[in-house]
Amino acid sequence: MAEATGFQSSISLKPFTTLKAGGEAEQFICVRNLRQLEEAAVWSQMTGGACTLIGWGSNILPSDDGVPGLSILNRTRSIQIQPNGLVLADSGCGFQELFLKTAQAGLRGLEFAVGIPGTLGGALVSNAGAYRSSVSEFLTRIEIVSGGIRKWVDPSWMEFSYRDSVLRRDDKTKAVLLQIEMHLPVGEPKKIYDEAREYQRQRIGKQPPSPSAGSFFKNVNSLDLAESLPGLPIPLRTAGVVPAGYLIEASGLKGHRHGGAEMGKRHANFILNTGNASAADIYELAQHVKESVLSKFGVELEEEVLYIGNWSRWRA
Ligand SMILES: Cc1cc2nc3c(=O)[nH]c(=O)nc-3n(C[C@H](O)[C@H](O)[C@H](O)COP(=O)(O)OP(=O)(O)OC[C@H]3O[C@@H](n4cnc5c(N)ncnc54)[C@H](O)[C@@H]3O)c2cc1C
Repeated sequence: MAEATGFQSSISLKPFTTLKAGGEAEQFICVRNLRQLEEAAVWSQMTGGACTLIGWGSNILPSDDGVPGLSILNRTRSIQIQPNGLVLADSGCGFQELFLKTAQAGLRGLEFAVGIPGTLGGALVSNAGAYRSSVSEFLTRIEIVSGGIRKWVDPSWMEFSYRDSVLRRDDKTKAVLLQIEMHLPVGEPKKIYDEAREYQRQRIGKQPPSPSAGSFFKNVNSLDLAESLPGLPIPLRTAGVVPAGYLIEASGLKGHRHGGAEMGKRHANFILNTGNASAADIYELAQHVKESVLSKFGVELEEEVLYIGNWSRWRA
């Protein structure tokens, strides 16, 4: 992932996203420790300007028309582990690195993080998860900056649900996540690594090598819809979970292209940048997919990927 230092203007965010698309940040700063992150967060909250946190950019699409206000690239990375299983980790630490370090300390619980590229902060915002586990499970408290004030809050403050938290919703006060405390149970090292390896193996065949943001849309939880789809594997039908990729493929959109953006051929819920996709190509392809799935199944897909910046030209 690209790095930059200092306080700058008009910086392209493309290299800071895994989709390799999008426009410029009006103002940009890279922070490397909690004090710098706190200062940048307090400054932007007290001056009232827009503030956008960027971790590894693996779940965002910045508009081609740019991102107003301050974009903070979070490169904080401290992880401290105590013998009793208490973990204190900066929001900018790699989610997979957090798994590796806690596993090395003989702690279990984060095996599912293998293969999820991104920072802990980005993982918290979307309650990242896989294989029926998610990041919110072991948290004990979170330190944030909100309204210009640094404070610890209970995890319930985040209002976690499936791939969602309060910080994904526009109507609430924006906060910056500084660090977390979590308590992980002691595990058997061989079991921890075997489980992580198995998850990694399952991902290898599914994930395409081209730039993407992983699954673009959230899966749909609906027993009625699941029961109406005879082709859906029985465990999913029973659980009432309909993968977005199933609906996209059944709408005939696997491999569908728009400009430089393409629906994955291996995994229909991935939007790939085949080389020179603009953010608009990706956005417009996503809208086409949503319209097609809505007209075929009567279901409105919801993006897992977050559109950041000024999208007014496309939403008008
Ligand atoms: C190949 C691939 C596979 C993936 N697989 C999975 C998967 O299995 N499960 C899954 O859940 N996700 C998956 N993802 C999506 C993504 O990796 C996760 O959502 C990841 O946790 C995002 O972290 P990030 O640091 O890249 O966040 P970013 O994309 O940089 O940011 C995401 C959002 O969080 C906000 N944010 C980031 N840090 C902070 C902070 N400190 N304070 C406040 N707000 C903040 C940003 O402003 C933005 O709104 C995958 C992505 C890819 C490319």
